[in-house]
Amino acid sequence: MCEKEKIILVTGGTGLVGKAIQSVIEADKIKNEKWIFVGSKDADLCNKQGTEKLFEKHKPTHVVHLAAMVGGLFHNMAHNLDFLRNNIHMNDNVLQTAHENNVVKVISCLSTCIFPDKTTYPIDETMIHNGPPHPSNYGYSYAKRLIDIANKGYYEQHGRIYTSIIPCNVFGPNDNFHPSASHVIPGLMRRLYDLIKNGNTEDKTFTVLGSGKPLRQFIYSLDLAKLIIWVLRGYDSVEPIILSVDESQEVTISQVAEAIAQAFDFKGKIVYDLSAADGQYKKTASNAKLRKYLPDFQFTPFTQAIKETVDWYIANYDQARN
Ligand code: NDP
Repeated sequence: MCEKEKIILVTGGTGLVGKAIQSVIEADKIKNEKWIFVGSKDADLCNKQGTEKLFEKHKPTHVVHLAAMVGGLFHNMAHNLDFLRNNIHMNDNVLQTAHENNVVKVISCLSTCIFPDKTTYPIDETMIHNGPPHPSNYGYSYAKRLIDIANKGYYEQHGRIYTSIIPCNVFGPNDNFHPSASHVIPGLMRRLYDLIKNGNTEDKTFTVLGSGKPLRQFIYSLDLAKLIIWVLRGYDSVEPIILSVDESQEVTISQVAEAIAQAFDFKGKIVYDLSAADGQYKKTASNAKLRKYLPDFQFTPFTQAIKETVDWYIANYDQARN
């Protein structure tokens, strides 16, 4: 019997993760799957009618909901209310419109940075709601946590399998390199490139904000894309799943800065500005649940992924989100 065609609508399809899925799916096309990638120009998902028109146009059977107001530590700290409201609206509009249109599966995106500030480590999928998030990003965090609550509601009231994934920090080609809105990796890449593009000399000083000591897990966007495609095809539970590198692959911010410096072949020296905020010291996540399903999944080595991203950034500087 012929399997019915899946029409997969990817919101946030123009962003870092969306573009990574586009490039992975190009090489991993299978029969009976039609992928549609949309960005904010196609519809403002903060608006219910706009969201409905988008669903009417594409008639998806499946949705990968990546669209969100996303930003780094300093952007979050200054705009918590905007992060809360925009993300609540987008998430509610997408989930409710998916339900109204009989979409069979929705995968939404949480993040490891929405977990309780005071917690034990490693964090796992059962701990999302155990206490307040770090005050620096409470708006983003509470909006994201509500997705998990809504998913449980859509299951209990309507039997829907709407689920969520919890990536750790993501980086890769097509990231946002804007100085005030970016995450740590693209932010550092942008500042280092600006410092050396007119001369990579020994007298240059690269200043990293904070102590360099916080620990983070970073996933390469192309690895995350492969895992999201697996979730779409093979993970059928409402319960969230952490998509992170292994605990042993956690790195300090100073290791990140050094890997970036090496990828740019930086000749000067790195210093740390201790007056700047560090954010959470660590937020180590366990990927044990993922490893039960995919014990042999190979993550791209961190320094290789950093090098590929730096090479992409240099080659695409003029078109990148700067
Ligand atoms: P990006 O900032 O790169 O992309 C955001 C996407 O959302 C873009 O496609 C953007 O469209 C779209 N978007 C934003 N506002 C609206 C709107 N009002 N209506 C419609 N679309 C909108 O994000 P990422 O790819 O980094 O993140 C994808 C998902 O992963 C998000 O849900 C994020 O919370 C989550 N996540 C990200 C992490 C990271 O480190 N980056 C870590 C953990 C989770 P356009 O560009 O066309 O304006």
